[in-house]
Amino acid sequence: MEESLPITRREFLKGSGNHCLRWSMASCSLFLLFKSGLSHAEKKAEILQEARHYKKLSQSRAQCHLCFRGCEVAEGKRGFCRNRENIKGTLYSVVYAKPAALQIDPIEKEPSFHMIPGTHIFCTATASCNFRCKFCQNWHLSQRSLEEISYVRLKPEEVVKKAVEQRCETVSFTYSEPTVFYEYMFDIIKIAKTKGLKTLYHTNGSINADPLLELLKYMDGVTVDLKAFTEKFYNEISSSMLEPVLHTLKTVKSYGRHLEIVNLMIPTLNDDPREIREMCVWIKKNLGKDTPLHFTRFFPQYKLTNLPPTPVVTLERAHRIAKEEGLEYVYIGNVPGHEMNSTFCPACKKKIIHRTHFSVSAKEVKNGKCRFCGYPIVGIWS
Ligand code: SF4
Repeated sequence: MEESLPITRREFLKGSGNHCLRWSMASCSLFLLFKSGLSHAEKKAEILQEARHYKKLSQSRAQCHLCFRGCEVAEGKRGFCRNRENIKGTLYSVVYAKPAALQIDPIEKEPSFHMIPGTHIFCTATASCNFRCKFCQNWHLSQRSLEEISYVRLKPEEVVKKAVEQRCETVSFTYSEPTVFYEYMFDIIKIAKTKGLKTLYHTNGSINADPLLELLKYMDGVTVDLKAFTEKFYNEISSSMLEPVLHTLKTVKSYGRHLEIVNLMIPTLNDDPREIREMCVWIKKNLGKDTPLHFTRFFPQYKLTNLPPTPVVTLERAHRIAKEEGLEYVYIGNVPGHEMNSTFCPACKKKIIHRTHFSVSAKEVKNGKCRFCGYPIVGIWS
């Protein structure tokens, strides 16, 4: 049974009490969670997709090779991410073609500031995640298993069709961690490329090298959350590891795909100026001075409601440090109206993309170069 997808606000308002909606004036976009109306038993009986990147072991066990955790999954169990289940020795993705969120966003919201600015992305996400971040902004999606949320069935080709119908230039994977719906994402981007769409992957960076390289064949841009620059933070706040994320950053860069980095700055946890400087030095040395870096403002969420929002001066201090270390494109995010939300040419210093929050009002980049002085600006511009 397929359900039709109400994408526009008008269509939504015509419909139904069964859908949960948040209408965000800031982004002028829709966030939908769909009620499937299925019982737990019916959900369990749905089509499953065999996982990629795993190995069958003895005694009907299976080892997943998709992310750094390398879960060894016993028969009848799921991996840490809750999305990959061992059924009689074969590992399956239980969330394949079962999106729990479909949304149209400005590409700036990702954030991806150097990839066709001012255009729209068609975002897709399923349940769950392979991290357990205490500050997660999408915890209602990422910290839930398939059975705990609502979703629809939508095949990869139907996602692409919706993106084209909605005149989105890019399909994007975000909100929860796309790595844990890898097979679905992979099939969508392969089709999307045949339709002339761009593809964008917003990730926590924990994917292993082989599946990442397979993905990059069809992925135009990658936005990586570099949540902090210490193993301590990753371990204590996100139940994860920093090292795999650094490896992913280097792999994306060396493959030649467009890369942007987001650092959500949380008071007292990752805002130490020495740590920020160390991170900026590493980025410049390993990824290049032209890698866009976004410092974004934290607001109390999920299990971190005891901390205040990040003071704007803390973000401005981080921005200053990054510029001192020679990074060319440094942004301050989640502070609507801040001057450092716009793009400035590293050579002539003129403003070349004027942004107010997620809205782009002027672009002075022509053929990938500053219109004023001709300096090449990193990114995808057409
Ligand atoms: S993707 Fe999921 S099952 Fe696979 S290793 Fe990572 S957490 Fe474990």
